[in-house]
Amino acid sequence: MTRYIDVHDLARLVNRKGLPTCLVEMAEYIRQDYLRWQAFEKCARVANHSPGGVIELMPVSDASLYAFKYVNGHPKNTQHDLPTVMAFGTLADVDTGTPLLLSEMTLTTAIRTAATSALAARYLAREDSRSMALIGNGSQSEFQAIAFNTLMGIDEIRLYDIDPAATAKLVANLAGRPGLKLIVASSVAEAVRGADIVTTVTADKAYATILTPEMIEPGMHLNAVGGDCPGKTELHRDIVEQARVIVEYEPQSRVEGEIQQLAKESPVVEFWQVIAGLVRGRENARQVTLFDSVGFALEDYSALRYVLDTARMLGIGQDIALVPKLDDPKDLYALLQPRVVGVRSMRKADTACA
Ligand code: NAD
Repeated sequence: MTRYIDVHDLARLVNRKGLPTCLVEMAEYIRQDYLRWQAFEKCARVANHSPGGVIELMPVSDASLYAFKYVNGHPKNTQHDLPTVMAFGTLADVDTGTPLLLSEMTLTTAIRTAATSALAARYLAREDSRSMALIGNGSQSEFQAIAFNTLMGIDEIRLYDIDPAATAKLVANLAGRPGLKLIVASSVAEAVRGADIVTTVTADKAYATILTPEMIEPGMHLNAVGGDCPGKTELHRDIVEQARVIVEYEPQSRVEGEIQQLAKESPVVEFWQVIAGLVRGRENARQVTLFDSVGFALEDYSALRYVLDTARMLGIGQDIALVPKLDDPKDLYALLQPRVVGVRSMRKADTACA
C-alpha cells in the first residue's frame, strides 16, 4: 500500500510537531542527504515553459529510494485566487518501483525551501548575524522568517513587498511570536540597509533587479530564492559577479539561477562541498556571500523522507491502493472482474447450504 498525505494531513503533521521543530528536523534530513551527494543519480529538472509560468518535474534517486516532485511557478496565479507555487510528489522503492508515498508538496516545499535557506545561511552568513531583510512577503515568507529565527537566531526582520496587503498578512500571521521583532519598511533599500542577511523571495517572470549594487554592504549574506527559471532573476548582475556564489547543483543553476546572467565559466561552489568541509563557504567577515537558490530535487527527496517517517510515527494519512496488489502478478485482468471473488464465495456458500 502507498501512504497518501493530502494538504490537511500535512498541516496536521506540522501542527502536531510544531513548525519550528519540523524546520529543524527537515534541515537535518537535508544536511544528511547532501553529505551523501555522490550516492545520488542527479539531473537538472525538466521544465515545460508557457508565457505565464512553468511546470517542472524533479527526479532524483539513490540505491534505495526514488523521488520526484511536480511543481509549477505561475506568478500571476494570485490574481486568479490560486497560489503561485503548487506541488505534489512521490517516494518509491528503487528495488521494485513500488510507490511508498504520494504526498502534497505545496506546504512541504515552503518548509523545505526555508529549511534549506537557513541551513545554507548557517554555513555562509556571519556568525553574529541577527537581522534580516525579507523582500517578497507572499506564501513562502512566513516559513523563511520562522526558519531564520529558529535555525539562525535572527530576531529582527525588516519586511518589504510591493503589495502592502502581503506584508500586512505576514505581520498578522507572525504577530506575538516571542523573540521576533518585525519592522515594515517603505522600500527595498530601507529594508536592506544595515541588515546582516537579505532574503529575496519575490515572484515575477522577468529579469528583475530587486537588489542593486549600492544596497549591498560588506559582510552581507544574500539568500536569493525567487529567481528560479530562465529569464526570472532578482539580483543585478554586478552583485552576482562580485559575490561568493554557492549553488545547489551547478548544471541546473547555470540555466535557472542568478548565475544565468554570468559567463558559463564563472566560478561557483556547490553547496554539498561546503557541507562536506571540502571548500570554505564564507572566506572572511567582509565577503558578500550569495546562496543562489533554485530548489534542487535532493531537498525534495529529503523532505519526502521526513514526511513519510513522521507520518508513520504519528499515524497520519491513509494507505491507498495506488498500484495493484494481485493474487497472480501476471493476472492484471483479474482487477476488471472484481465479482469473481464474490461469485466464488457465493458458490462456496451455496455448497455449504446444500
Ligand atoms: P507569492 O506569489 O505568494 O509571493 C510573491 C510576492 O512577491 C508577492 O507578494 C509579490 O507582491 C511580491 N513581489 C513581486 N515583485 C516584487 C518586487 N519587485 N518587490 C517586492 N515584492 C515583490 O509567491 P511565493 O510562493 O511566496 O514564491 C516566491 C518566489 O519564490 C517565486 O518566484 C517562486 O518561484 C520562488 N520559489 C523558489 C523556491 C526555491 O527553492 N528556490 C521554492 C519555492 C518558491
